[in-house]
Amino acid sequence: MKKHILDYREKDLEELVKPKFRAKQIYGWIYNKRVESFSSMKNLPKNLIEELDNNFTIYSSKIVSKQLSTDGSIKYLFQLHDNHTVEAVLLLMRDKQYNEDGTIKHLEKFTVCVSSQVGCKVGCAFCLTAKGGFIRDLGAGEIVEQILQIYKDNNIESNRRVNIVYMGMGEPLDNLSNLAQAIKVFSDLDGLNIAPHRQTVSTSGLSAKIDRLAKMDLGINLAISLHAVDDELREQLMPINKAYNIASVIDSVRRFPINLRKKVMFEYLVIKDVNDDLASAKKLVKLLNGIQAKVNLILFNPHEGGEFKRPDLKDVINFQEHLLSKGLICTVRESKGLDISAACGQLREQNLKDQND
Ligand code: SAH
Ligand code: SF4
Repeated sequence: MKKHILDYREKDLEELVKPKFRAKQIYGWIYNKRVESFSSMKNLPKNLIEELDNNFTIYSSKIVSKQLSTDGSIKYLFQLHDNHTVEAVLLLMRDKQYNEDGTIKHLEKFTVCVSSQVGCKVGCAFCLTAKGGFIRDLGAGEIVEQILQIYKDNNIESNRRVNIVYMGMGEPLDNLSNLAQAIKVFSDLDGLNIAPHRQTVSTSGLSAKIDRLAKMDLGINLAISLHAVDDELREQLMPINKAYNIASVIDSVRRFPINLRKKVMFEYLVIKDVNDDLASAKKLVKLLNGIQAKVNLILFNPHEGGEFKRPDLKDVINFQEHLLSKGLICTVRESKGLDISAACGQLREQNLKDQND
């Protein structure tokens, strides 16, 4: 099988093509001009084009569905070379703003949420991705391709400052080496140039792998999907808690190298009558004591057939106010893309259902 050229950093390509300087040209064609074939790389000699054609592919997946949300977010469904599908979402964090004279004051702010696996092994009770079980890891290039295709589809310039969150389908730390390679390819200066500090890896809390990620010293931000403050409840919601309990997750976070100006994000999925009470908020404050933490409350996004319910906004606000009153930074995740069912796995599920109808 041909190799995926998006698997490689420029300096990896320098080892694969001769002479070395061709790697920079190829990178320019792929990431700046965004050509789709090697034959469009006009300044390469014919024999190199042929060699590349025989050994590599550039794009290995295609966009099979696209949903636009009223808030400007766009959800994509990609079909991979083996017909499996994964999702990625372009989130519009801030609209373009103009000055009174019509000139641009601020460009839009984008965050892209990418998938790291087809399915997931972790099996959280509330998560739609978990329902289909685990199918396979994505290659580094398949992770990179989600962003490259979204850039291309929206004409986002290569020098734009875009953030990446690994919060799509899958558990990124279960696919650590491909994840690490994707992080490096994204930050390549001649490529998309998305610095590691603009990339956030979200994990269900595989403590041993958080330690391995820490040793790699990639400079990325960390987000922990906590969702519960006592082990009994967390085990019910996230079976991984049997292997790595809350204390072990918190310990690995304490060992994680965090830029002094940055914080570790703790995601807390608020589910009605499950974990939305003030007592939980109080426990959470204690648990995070001494950690450079910020908390992101996520309103559970119900899906068909699920047992969990969306929380009442007043309970979420009470929860938030308690954390704020104790000096913790706490945001409530706006339901970006809610109308296009932007939570993990929902577009894929819908697409599978449509195919079966
Ligand atoms: N596996 C990683 C990253 C992907 S999931 C992790 O669990 O952190 C990204 C986030 O989406 C997690 O915080 C997860 O709890 C959340 N999520 C899953 N299902 C959801 C739903 N139905 N509504 C809202 N958020 C959901
Ligand atoms: Fe996997 Fe994350 Fe879904 Fe849990 S929430 S099943 S870890 S994708």
